Amino acid sequence: MLARAVIFLGPPGAGKGTQAKLVAARFGVPHLSTGDMLRENVSRGTELGLLAKPVMERGELVSDALVLRMVEERVARPDCRNGFIFDGFPRTVAQAEALDAILKRHGLGAPAVIYFNVAEDVLMRRLTGRRTCKVCGEIYNVYDRPPKVEGRCDKDGGELVQRADDRPEVIRERLAAYERQTKTLVEHYRSQGVLHEVDGASSMEAVTASVFGALENFGARA
Ligand SMILES: [Zn+2]
Repeated sequence: MLARAVIFLGPPGAGKGTQAKLVAARFGVPHLSTGDMLRENVSRGTELGLLAKPVMERGELVSDALVLRMVEERVARPDCRNGFIFDGFPRTVAQAEALDAILKRHGLGAPAVIYFNVAEDVLMRRLTGRRTCKVCGEIYNVYDRPPKVEGRCDKDGGELVQRADDRPEVIRERLAAYERQTKTLVEHYRSQGVLHEVDGASSMEAVTASVFGALENFGARA
């Protein structure tokens, strides 16, 4: 049993989303993201959703205070009683401290934090190699998962394009921004002794094995 919050930290392209799904299935806990929470609150027309909607429509970031209220409401639900996985949150030390307080209020102890460490050149290759089918949205990678015919989708022959977000100069900037923002967050969790680093550059199976191993150890320590 997990019985705690698990936080996945790591740059874009580190494979956190895939691993989060596997951990969620293995331990039978929900996989949470603030993006899903925002969408759910907006579509249900909750008080928080009504506050968030105009901000999102202006293309602005929803305030920390609002995000944290959504997190608290979500964590209080029964399906989170045995723990949950957070992917992409917290992003700052301030959010991490607020989350620590929320966990305490809901009877969950210190989180287990998994940090996906991946060298920049590996991330660049993963991210700049991405091509998306214009027809069905299927994602390929010219290095790691090339289509059978260059530039064409295997399923429907649709044209494969590089999204503006996947251009090298955009990605380099995104990675640098991530690095600046996350350094202090990684230190925050490291100093609490709850950070476990995994080598995100190894194969998907190897990463899964070390994530499961780390979480079982966290469980044994608790
Ligand atoms: Zn396609």
